[in-house]
Amino acid sequence: MESIQGMNDMQRVVEADRAHIWHHLVQHKAFETSDPRVIVEGKGIRVWDAKGKEYIDAVSGGVWTVNVGYGRESIANAVRDQLVKMNYFAGAAGSVPGALFAERLIAKMPGMSRVYYSNSGSEANEKVYKMVRQIAHKHHGGKKWKILYRDRDYHGTTIGTLATSGQDQRAEQYGPYPDGFVRVPHCLEYRKQWDVENYGERAADAIEEVILREGPDTIGCLVLEPVTAGGGVIVPPKGYWERVQEICRKYDILLHIDEVVCGMGRAGAWFGYQLYDIKPDFVTMAKGVASGYAAISCTVTSERVFDYFKSDAADPMSYFRDISTFGGCTSGPAAALENMRIIEDEDLIGNTVTMGERCLANLQVLMEKHKIIGDVRGKGLFLGAELVADRITKEPAAEKLVQQVVAECGAQGVIIGATNRSLPGFNNTLCLSPALIATADNIDEITGAIDVALTRVFG
Ligand code: PMP
Repeated sequence: MESIQGMNDMQRVVEADRAHIWHHLVQHKAFETSDPRVIVEGKGIRVWDAKGKEYIDAVSGGVWTVNVGYGRESIANAVRDQLVKMNYFAGAAGSVPGALFAERLIAKMPGMSRVYYSNSGSEANEKVYKMVRQIAHKHHGGKKWKILYRDRDYHGTTIGTLATSGQDQRAEQYGPYPDGFVRVPHCLEYRKQWDVENYGERAADAIEEVILREGPDTIGCLVLEPVTAGGGVIVPPKGYWERVQEICRKYDILLHIDEVVCGMGRAGAWFGYQLYDIKPDFVTMAKGVASGYAAISCTVTSERVFDYFKSDAADPMSYFRDISTFGGCTSGPAAALENMRIIEDEDLIGNTVTMGERCLANLQVLMEKHKIIGDVRGKGLFLGAELVADRITKEPAAEKLVQQVVAECGAQGVIIGATNRSLPGFNNTLCLSPALIATADNIDEITGAIDVALTRVFG
C-alpha cells in the first residue's frame, strides 16, 4: 500500500474520501461544510482520526462490532497464517478453520448442531428465511410459510430482510416487499401499549393474537432480537421469553434468534438468548464473531432443522440449494477462532457483566441529575439512555438536540451513538457499546463525557 505518513498525505486521503466515498447512513451534504471522518488507527478501546485526534470508542466500531478491541496482533497473525496456507475454497468443500470454529461454537450452544457460513448479518438472516420457506414447501405442503417479526427490531438491509424491518423508515423507500412477513408488537415496557402488571406476558400474548388472526398453520417462524439493538436498546420484560417460547411450541413455530449484535459476549453471556434460557431452532450471528477483523456470519441451526434438508431416494433435491461465494473465505473462521480464544482467556464475558453493571449504575446517577433522561436500560456492555422532553408525557427529545449530545461527546474525544435513526420521534436513545475489554476508568470517562454533553446541550 502507498505509504501515508504526514498530515499533508492525510489531508489528501480525506479529500479522496470526500470526492469518491459513498458513506453509509449519512447525508453527504454535511461534507460540504465539514470533513468526513476517516479513522486511521486503533489500539484497545481507542481510535485516532486523520487529524490525529484521539477518541475512546464507546460504540465498538460504530455498530457494536469490535468486541475484543483494536490492534489484536494475534488475530492478524492467525488470519495471515491461514491465508498463505489456504485462503479460499467454496461450494461443497469445507476448511480446517471452518470445521474447528464450528466445533467450538456448537460446544457453547447446547441443543444446536450445524453452522452455515456467510458474510453479513443480513445474509445470515436471509438464509433462515430461505430455509423456512423450503421446509414449508417440502414438509408442510406449502403451509407454514409466513415469518413473524417484531415492531422496532431490525434484521438486515437486503430486500428480504427489510421485509422484516420493524423500523419503517429504513424500509419504506425500497418496496414493494415479498409476501408472507407479518409484524407483531414490540415489548418495550417504558412505552407501554397495555396497562397491566405482567407486561412481559401481555406483550408475548400479543404475538399469539397475531398468530390466531393469520392462522397458526400459515406461520413457520418467529424472528426476534434477544435484546433489541437499533430499535432503542430494548431489554425484554420479565416473563416475556418464557411465554414466547411456550407459544412457539404450542403452534409448532420455529424460533429464530437474531444474535447479530448480542452474540459473542456483548450482552454478558456468550449469546443473548442464554440469558433467558431460550431453546431456539435458528441462531444467527455476525458482528462480534470476528470483531470486524474479517467478514463472517453464521446461521446456526438445530439438528431438527438440519434433518429437514437430508435427501432421500424419493427426493434427492431436498438439500439446501444455496451458496454464499465468500462463505468459503477461511480468513473469517480463522479470525473467529482467535477472537473466541481471546474472549475466553481474558474472561471478557465476566468483564462485560461487571463493567456493564458499572455503566448502568453511572447512567442511573446521570438520570437523577438530568431530567432529560427518561429511562436507562441495557444488558452487559449494551446500554441505552432514552432522552425525553417531558418525563410524564415521555415525548421524545428533539432529534437535533440528541445529535448535539453525540457531537459534544465527540468534541470531548468520546464516540457514542444515538439510536434509532430510522424511527421518527424515537431517534432519542443514546447508545453505548464499548469493547468488552473496557476498564472502570474507560466507563467513567464515557459517562463523564455524557454528563458534560448533557449539561452543555440542556443546561
Ligand atoms: N440484525 C441485527 C440485529 C442488526 O443490528 C444488524 C446490523 N446492524 C443486522 C442484522 C444486519 O447485519 P449486516 O449489516 O451485517 O448485514
